[in-house]
Amino acid sequence: MSGFDCDLFVVGGGSGGVRAARMAAQRGVRVVLAEAAALGGTCVNVGCIPKKLYSYAAHYGQDFADAAGFGWDVPAPAFDWQRLKNNRAREIARLNGIYENLLRGSGVEIVRGWAMLRGPDEVVVETAEGERRWRARHILIATGGTPSVPHFPGREHVVTSDSMFDLDPFPARLVIVGGGYIACEFASIFRGLGSEVTQLYRGEQVLRGFDEDVRNFLAQEVRKHGVDLRLRSDVAHVKRAARELRVTLQDGEVLAADTVLYATGRIPNVAGLGLDQVRVRVSPHGAIEVDDRFQTSVPSIHALGDVTARLQLTPVALAEAMVLVDHLFGDGRRNMSYELVPTAVFTHPNIGTVGLTEAQARERHGAVRIFRSEFRALKHTLSGNTERTLMKLVVDAASDRVVGLHMVGADAGEIVQGFAVAMKAGATKAQFDSTIGIHPTMAEEFVTMREPLSS
Ligand code: FAD
Ligand code: NDP
Repeated sequence: MSGFDCDLFVVGGGSGGVRAARMAAQRGVRVVLAEAAALGGTCVNVGCIPKKLYSYAAHYGQDFADAAGFGWDVPAPAFDWQRLKNNRAREIARLNGIYENLLRGSGVEIVRGWAMLRGPDEVVVETAEGERRWRARHILIATGGTPSVPHFPGREHVVTSDSMFDLDPFPARLVIVGGGYIACEFASIFRGLGSEVTQLYRGEQVLRGFDEDVRNFLAQEVRKHGVDLRLRSDVAHVKRAARELRVTLQDGEVLAADTVLYATGRIPNVAGLGLDQVRVRVSPHGAIEVDDRFQTSVPSIHALGDVTARLQLTPVALAEAMVLVDHLFGDGRRNMSYELVPTAVFTHPNIGTVGLTEAQARERHGAVRIFRSEFRALKHTLSGNTERTLMKLVVDAASDRVVGLHMVGADAGEIVQGFAVAMKAGATKAQFDSTIGIHPTMAEEFVTMREPLSS
């Protein structure tokens, strides 16, 4: 191996790092992976998985209420936060073990400790037993991201999403700052679990970048669920009083809270990696700059996932890892496409979306046809729940291709995934129309929308 200790040294055992390490090792190359915390990274430990488990937990409150209209009398349900936390922790520990077994089973050597780059092919890891050093033919940086909290008086009193899963005690009054994925998801989850939630967003409407109809509709629905969503609102300072936190807003109003969550974005995890020593180029926001094969400014060093701050989603990091491994150790035919990446926001109700917003489509294609349907789901005709569902198609008028598909409603993520395949295959509105629906479902609405709203 021409003096190298391994073919690939992976820094970070999260979504991207684990996938790259496993896939490379399965091709018979020698792989070492360093992880400073729990295997599985953000998604498994403090992201997608525990978040979705808590979202399920939060839905039960509404389900018990909805059940009455179907003839079920549920005696006053009681929620045990400690039991949920214990069960989640047990499940996450199980997943950590599975990740470890998958890696070891593929032949990856796992090193526990903080890794630092010392040269274009040299990595040092601070382990419990002391410093260990490797020379690697290729180095992959997959160190993910970390929450970013702005500077303001009282910053030390607020928490980030990393702390939300193990809060003690349960926050009866929760103030959330931010209007992105995490702020919106946690607002719905903790409201569903029983907190009084106030969500403060500095802009005109939450979820910047999503379709306007989706943003407005979601805001209306979460307010119905009891989230006190305040727009054009920001924090001046936070103070700790004897039994609570006092959040003073820019307009002078003071909110009392047990917990203040700042969900104001995540920044690439590059501090303490030694990037400056090896001259890996980073953007002004700290993201590692890579080309379309994930190569950094140093040819032997690659980077992918959240640390490159492209699309910060687990399936994107996984796909990038597959492309990289194919490029380094395979025939190099795979390419990464960031077109038509579907995504869901696990608010109550969920958002599922793929492709262009109406505004993006008008800018890119000029003439578009919009199909929009808003209705009360069949289930809620008996439940009495006032939740409504929004479905929207954006069609390029010239080619008839469906270029945007958006939904706010129950299980939107599950529904949109399949439509994303159709859109990847270039499906036209005529093909949507010729597809027979599955009745009675909400998903059938996407293949029965007939009249365009506008063009
Ligand atoms: P990570 O998974 O963050 O892994 C990086 C790993 O590197 C970490 O384990 C870290 O400990 C380790 N590390 C860092 N520096 C070093 C070092 N110097 N030495 C050794 N180890 C190091 N995405 C979705 O697609 N769907 C969701 O529903 C979703 N929900 C989310 C909810 C929350 C609350 C959050 C925060 C994120 C969510 N995401 C979701 C985003 C998703 O978690 C990330 O996009 C994904 O985890 C990125 O993977 P990664 O491999 O780039 O980094
Ligand atoms: P986002 O970038 O989605 O949202 C950050 C929010 O914080 C925005 O509303 C932003 O406002 C606001 N903000 C930023 N700076 C400040 C400030 N100084 N003061 C007040 N508000 C501020 O980040 P998140 O932290 O919510 O999530 C990080 C990423 O993790 C997501 O982008 C997503 O990629 C991923 N994720 C994915 C999930 C999923 O797939 N379901 C779930 C959770 C996370 P503005 O819009 O005005 O800039």
